[in-house]
Amino acid sequence: DEILSIRGLRKSFPGVVALAGVDFDVRKGEVHALLGANGAGKSTLIKIVAGLYQRDSGNILLNGSPVAFADTAAAMRAGISVIYQDFALVPHLSVADNIFLGSETTKTPGVLDRRAMHAQARRLLDLVGASFPVTVLVSELGSGQRQMVEIAKALRGNARILILDEPTASLSHAESERLFGLIRKLAADGVGIVYVSHRLEEIAPLVQRVTVLRDGVSAGTFPIAHIDRSKIIQLITGHERGAAKR
Ligand code: ADP
Ligand code: MG
Ligand code: MG
Repeated sequence: DEILSIRGLRKSFPGVVALAGVDFDVRKGEVHALLGANGAGKSTLIKIVAGLYQRDSGNILLNGSPVAFADTAAAMRAGISVIYQDFALVPHLSVADNIFLGSETTKTPGVLDRRAMHAQARRLLDLVGASFPVTVLVSELGSGQRQMVEIAKALRGNARILILDEPTASLSHAESERLFGLIRKLAADGVGIVYVSHRLEEIAPLVQRVTVLRDGVSAGTFPIAHIDRSKIIQLITGHERGAAKR
């Protein structure tokens, strides 16, 4: 029941090998942490899965079948949703407009009228536990509230795989707890969750498995139940990056 499999994924930027052969699996209904120090390649990996970057080589399989996404819309149609570190919200648009920005619904006139759009945005905000109105401008929201809009947006299209890139960076403790509750609920519904973090302590109560990336290589996958914390932290921090900067 592997919903997503990555095999031997490689990606270079001018002067930097970001991914030097990554293997990674996510099961249906699993919360799987992707851990690694700054520069380990976490964001590059998920941007390739999301269709934002193109890989140099390697394979991505969804439910066992190889896929290649020309763009983010193609990845989204396949059920892959990503919440990025740097928000992509438009400040001078309302919450509802941001949630449906660039979606198929808004590109097809008449498919979803304004009232239906607002009702659906409300449903998504309720799901993530946000109580502010859908008509409020994003510029009027705090960073935790913006993160909730990002998550609502990611859930608009029935995601089967949800990838979150360090999602608690701008959240309060209470907001993080609420997000964790939502993640558990989505996983229970069968969504495969990839939780990108650089902190083992943060993800330990949430995830079933941990994969460590270091210098663009997968350094191992471990079940959280019998994990050797000091070994994981050593894997994360390891040696200096540099070996991959050739
Ligand atoms: P992480 O998310 O684990 O911090 P990244 O995937 O952001 O790591 O970065 C991995 C390496 O690739 C870093 O050396 C980074 O500087 C480089 N890198 C990432 N994105 C780009 C890009 N668009 N252009 C050039 N180099 C990049
Ligand atoms: Mg980083
Ligand atoms: Mg990153």
